[in-house]
Amino acid sequence: MEGTTTGCFDSLFAAFGKRSSTAQSSRIPPAYTPPTEEKLPAYEECVSKAMSQLDVKHDTELERIVSDAIQAVSGDLRQISLDLHENMETGMKEFHAHQILTDYLEKQGFKVTRHAYGMETAFTAEFTRGQGRRIGFCSEYDGLPGLGQGCGHNCIAISGVAAAIGVKAALESGKASGKVMLFGTPAEELSIGKIVLVQKRAFQDNVDACLMLHPAAYDSERAALIAIHDVRVEFFGKASHASAAPWEGVNALDAMVQLWNNISMMRQQLMPTDRVHGIVTDGGKAPNVIPDHTSAFFFVRTTKYDQIIRLMEKMENCFRAAAMATGCEVKWTWREIGVTKDVVQNGPMADVYKDFMERTAGTSFPSIAEQEKKGGGSTDMGNVSYEVPTLHPMRAIGTTAANHTIEFTKAAATKYAHEATLQGSEGLAVTALKVLNDDSFFEVVKKDFEATVRS
Ligand SMILES: [Zn+2]
Repeated sequence: MEGTTTGCFDSLFAAFGKRSSTAQSSRIPPAYTPPTEEKLPAYEECVSKAMSQLDVKHDTELERIVSDAIQAVSGDLRQISLDLHENMETGMKEFHAHQILTDYLEKQGFKVTRHAYGMETAFTAEFTRGQGRRIGFCSEYDGLPGLGQGCGHNCIAISGVAAAIGVKAALESGKASGKVMLFGTPAEELSIGKIVLVQKRAFQDNVDACLMLHPAAYDSERAALIAIHDVRVEFFGKASHASAAPWEGVNALDAMVQLWNNISMMRQQLMPTDRVHGIVTDGGKAPNVIPDHTSAFFFVRTTKYDQIIRLMEKMENCFRAAAMATGCEVKWTWREIGVTKDVVQNGPMADVYKDFMERTAGTSFPSIAEQEKKGGGSTDMGNVSYEVPTLHPMRAIGTTAANHTIEFTKAAATKYAHEATLQGSEGLAVTALKVLNDDSFFEVVKKDFEATVRS
């Protein structure tokens, strides 16, 4: 099997190599074409082709064990999901979610650590049988103020539990050995929980790969999730009577309006994939007082995290220019915890997940190019994906509504969403079991990880 895998890659890369050697043998120097993103062969496509040449044998008995174990707890998980939906809690305050999930996991025979890694609402649940690799899953459970479970994290919560239960059943059956570890990760909407866990080496020291499922309007095995950073900016001026002596004042709101215009003009020169968006959090106190203080909160996003620095510099110039033009002082603070990185989807794991979902759930996936266009969101799973091989597919839950809408909140509570989530969780568990059971597959997973996190 080892040889087959390497052979596939060899022949694939040889095919790419052959083209360039033909060009050289013609002795005519090829015309220079600047390398553009479009012209480079996408690494994911290379891996997909290599994977499609592999003789993937499905262990249908193992798949049945996973499916039976997950379907057996469907009723319990439905109750938990609806409870989390009705009793939404926001980031770092998910006390009820923490309690019901950890109680349930303990009842299911996992070794549970509550309040893990110094976070009140984080937990881990693990189960080990025999020697072997270690697989991780993530559950999220926080919601959005004013929207409830507008991102469907109630589905993510039960998906992590379901996948862990599926793998545990396979371990207990003797058809796999190793460890499964579920991470309860708070405050995804604030992009904090997994970054803290990464800083404390929770993933790096405990698992060889990590997977999670996210509900969406569409299925995507390689969802494009981009990097994000945030900045709080304040202008300080001088208050004065806005009618009797406006010339005595220094207008902090003018600075804010100037900043808004600077950013709006800057956008035209940004890459089409860059994003800058924000809100004014303080626009002054009274119309008859020249505002001496204003503040705003911005998010900046790029497809790759190492590009964020480019936007940070541009934003800081906008801040300085607005302050200088209006005579205000300016202060800005980038988020202390650092950048939320883009998600590096592990190609080989994505292919196994996709194959399982197509075969067993009749799921159809858009092309990789279409999936890339649908991206735009960000998640702290990105920081995990730069540490261990990661998969974060999106699972359609029977709505056309975008995440973070009231329509999506409603969709996340439907029976359809529940069943779709459990199917996706089976896909996660089966993919994870391939990582545990198949040495040559794990080698391909690692190669893909090393190649993509460094690209
Ligand atoms: Zn979400």
